[in-house]
Amino acid sequence: MDDCIFCKIVSGEVKSSKVYEDDYVMAFDDIDPQAPVHVIIIPKKHLESVQTISNDDAIYLMHIISAAKTIAKNKNVDISGYRLLTNHGRDGGQSVFHLHFHLLGGRNLKWPPG
Ligand code: 5GP
Ligand code: ZN
Repeated sequence: MDDCIFCKIVSGEVKSSKVYEDDYVMAFDDIDPQAPVHVIIIPKKHLESVQTISNDDAIYLMHIISAAKTIAKNKNVDISGYRLLTNHGRDGGQSVFHLHFHLLGGRNLKWPPG
C-alpha cells in the first residue's frame, strides 16, 4: 500500500535494521525498543491486522512463527524466554495498520501488560 510505512520498509524505500527475511516475511529492530530485544516481524504482503487476515494467507502466519523461532535463537532469548504478540485496533494499541508481531525479550516482562 502506497502510504504504509511497513510496505516502504519491505520495498527498501524506508531504511530499517533488518534481522531476518524470507520469501514471505521480513523482520527488523523496532525504532523505539521497549526491551533489550524488540523485533517487528511482518508479512511482505500488506495485510491490515490479525482481525482481517483470511485463511488463504495462513502461509504468512506460519512463516512469522518460523521467523520468530530463528530470531529468538539469533538474539539469544530462545532459552531465557520472550513474548510474541500482535495488537489489533484502538484498544489493542495498534498504531501501524500493516499486520506485525512484536518479539520482546532480554528482560523479565511483566504480566498483565498495561
Ligand atoms: P503497534 O503499536 O502498531 O503494535 O506497533 C508498531 C511498532 O512499530 C511500534 O513499536 C513502533 O515503534 C514501530 N515502528 C513504527 N514506525 C517504525 C519505523 O519506521 N521503523 C521501525 N523500525 N519501527 C517502527
Ligand atoms: Zn503495508
